[in-house]
Amino acid sequence: MDLRWTPEQDDFRHEARNWLVEHRDQWLQSCDHRPESGDTKTGFAQHLEWERMLHQGGWAAVSWPSRYGGRDASLWEWLIFEEEYYRAECPQRVTQNGIFLLAPTVFEFGNDAQRDHVLPRLAAADDLWCQGWSEPNAGSDLASLTCRAERVDDGWLLNGQKTWTTRGAFCTHLFGLFRTDPEQQRHRGLSYLMVPLDADGVTVRGFGRLDGDEGFAEVFFDDAFVPDTAIPGGVVLGGVDDGWAVAMATTGSERGLTLRSPGRFTAAVNRLVDLASETDHAVTDDIADVWMRAEAYQLFTLQTVTQLANGASIGAESSINKIWWSELDIGIHELALDLLGPDAELEHAWSKAFQFALSGPIYAGTNEIQRNIAAERLLGLPRK
Ligand SMILES: Cc1cc2nc3c(=O)[nH]c(=O)nc-3n(C[C@H](O)[C@H](O)[C@H](O)COP(=O)(O)OP(=O)(O)OC[C@H]3O[C@@H](n4cnc5c(N)ncnc54)[C@H](O)[C@@H]3O)c2cc1C
Repeated sequence: MDLRWTPEQDDFRHEARNWLVEHRDQWLQSCDHRPESGDTKTGFAQHLEWERMLHQGGWAAVSWPSRYGGRDASLWEWLIFEEEYYRAECPQRVTQNGIFLLAPTVFEFGNDAQRDHVLPRLAAADDLWCQGWSEPNAGSDLASLTCRAERVDDGWLLNGQKTWTTRGAFCTHLFGLFRTDPEQQRHRGLSYLMVPLDADGVTVRGFGRLDGDEGFAEVFFDDAFVPDTAIPGGVVLGGVDDGWAVAMATTGSERGLTLRSPGRFTAAVNRLVDLASETDHAVTDDIADVWMRAEAYQLFTLQTVTQLANGASIGAESSINKIWWSELDIGIHELALDLLGPDAELEHAWSKAFQFALSGPIYAGTNEIQRNIAAERLLGLPRK
């Protein structure tokens, strides 16, 4: 592994940096320098403007082929782009569930018609996707889900309820798992469906999070008919009754590489070091510790990208990634609040980000479950 960037990669970095800084400032001006969180209705609309600027500049999905709205960049260049993105403190990506979770699954399991339809619309933020796994009685134990999809003439009839769908209230489509064979148990007889949320019989009800943003939704399906033609190539991704393997590919992306790139954390620890100097604190062992953990995550990611470039795929190792970044995020933000002292009550950016960091060990599969996966599948320990 050669850790030096090539001259071409340095050029790519400069191009990305210049574009991001210039357009970030334009975007801030367009929302009077008062952007709201993308998890509120107003903020989501503001962030969509940003998504469209990214798309027009060819930066919405840098590592995709250009025919789908990407830039034909390598995973290495994607990592560079992400570093610059977080360094420039660019807006949160409200399209991330579609771009980073659904899209890799469509590339892997979709047919040509599905790829040709879903991917360009996703890159352009024309269709906005939320993920529908969790149900009121199926969180960690996802295989116990009861949402049904029944085969009828020319389509599917959906019944049941999904919950905790991030930004579901603002999205146009949902991807998720539905039971298509009621005779089958647990992981069998499930299908991965792509569902337009404006179908008759679908009700989306937004509700608030602990931090006050209304970014969650419950989605109810009440004899909702989804025709096969709702998505060219069909609404089922992968095989009918074979959705578990497809869903595991999506969760692998969520825990593994794409959802939380190292640039997010290296930028945050650098801001933490700046905060320490602004608040007249020497860099402590604790700050050095999180700084090294962020560096370690970056090195680990470089190793992962090297393996992917050599044809390997991410397996259960993605669980270790997920535990690492979620606990690192909390560590960084706790230290920031310590440095700010009582000002943390007033300091919006760090304290708001701290509240979100607290949810890291829960979403994308709780860390207790990830530790079980690592124990059983990587260490070969017996199931308890
Ligand atoms: C910010 C945020 C965004 C989210 N976005 C989405 C989304 O977009 N789409 C979606 O579908 N879901 C989403 N979720 C839901 C998330 O996936 C679930 O919260 C998570 O899977 C846990 O399920 P649960 O809340 O039902 O908890 P439970 O499964 O009831 O777990 C409760 C506790 O018990 C522990 N536990 C359960 N089983 C075991 C076991 N076998 N061994 C050890 N410990 C165990 C868990 O680790 C946890 O600590 C989101 C959650 C959050 C916080």
